[in-house]
Amino acid sequence: MRALSGNRGAPLRPRFPGPGSVTVRVPAKVNLHLSVGDVRKDGYHELVTVYQAVSLYDEVTVEAADRLSVSVVGDGAGEVPLDDENLAARAVVAAAAVVGREPHLKVSIRKGIPVAGGMAGGSADAAAALVAADSLWGSSLDRTTLEGLAAGLGSDVAFLLAGGTALGTGRGEVISPVLAVGDYHWVLALADFGLSTPAVYAEYDRLRAAAPAPATAESPAPDGVLAALRAGDVVALSMALANDLQPAALSLRPQLARVLDAGRELGAVGGVVSGSGPTVALLARSSAESVRIASALAGLGVCRTVRRATGPVTGARVVTGESAPA
Ligand code: ATP
Repeated sequence: MRALSGNRGAPLRPRFPGPGSVTVRVPAKVNLHLSVGDVRKDGYHELVTVYQAVSLYDEVTVEAADRLSVSVVGDGAGEVPLDDENLAARAVVAAAAVVGREPHLKVSIRKGIPVAGGMAGGSADAAAALVAADSLWGSSLDRTTLEGLAAGLGSDVAFLLAGGTALGTGRGEVISPVLAVGDYHWVLALADFGLSTPAVYAEYDRLRAAAPAPATAESPAPDGVLAALRAGDVVALSMALANDLQPAALSLRPQLARVLDAGRELGAVGGVVSGSGPTVALLARSSAESVRIASALAGLGVCRTVRRATGPVTGARVVTGESAPA
């Protein structure tokens, strides 16, 4: 691990950065469907997932500097590495190698996506940093190159370049857009603890070994989710939400079951642990319903905080010179 010059909590770039900087806004994701297959030779599990990008955002600003540095402000900033383990820094290094330049950028991250929350915050920052560095350098990397860089950085990075709603296969990095009609209104219950993705997969493997699935059982295909999205049917979508990692997340943190139960009792049409958790994503019938459920859930004290978000939204986009909504 190599130290960069890091800084937590320093003032972030102004909202209207100067011409020498680029700011990219990038959303979080929820997994509407996540089925986990066998472990591959490279140690990753084979996945079939349906991602949706939702309106909870990080902002990543890059500007030219005499060395690579990272600073982070916002929710959970203290848990984000400031060295070359930071996924945004890794993205800058990878992009610089392709472009043939030094990775000398000051990278400023404003976290709005919960850290270690199962919403791919680190991957989002990597996607944002790729887009920001490419824009600052004027390198105009083509889509295929950006997607190749993204795939090398993490399973969710390629999806967060594109956003929207997409099917992910391989270890999640092989993306195909899917037709999704309408907007979906989410209530997101954020936990006061993180869950490490490798720990959740280890628990998944342990549970699976303890109770192996019958030989005939196959991971369910995301057909129900895809049909509901095509029809714009929120009730059908809520019934089709599925996450193979949910039992593992609940096994590690049983209190998440209370959040799911509370969401249902408050009138959410569906609920699922997002990715490896611990964020619980509750689906509401309408925007007004999401306001009501969010406020009631916040009053119950079963989670750290509650956010509302809509999906699908677009992926990593340059917002320099624009006022980015909070
Ligand atoms: P996943 O992509 O597996 O769903 P997650 O959303 O649960 O991940 P992240 O917020 O991406 O979790 O953080 C996972 C770990 O990645 C953190 O604990 C942190 O150590 C590391 N990390 C590296 N770079 C970043 C970054 N820019 N922002 C947040 N976490 C980062």
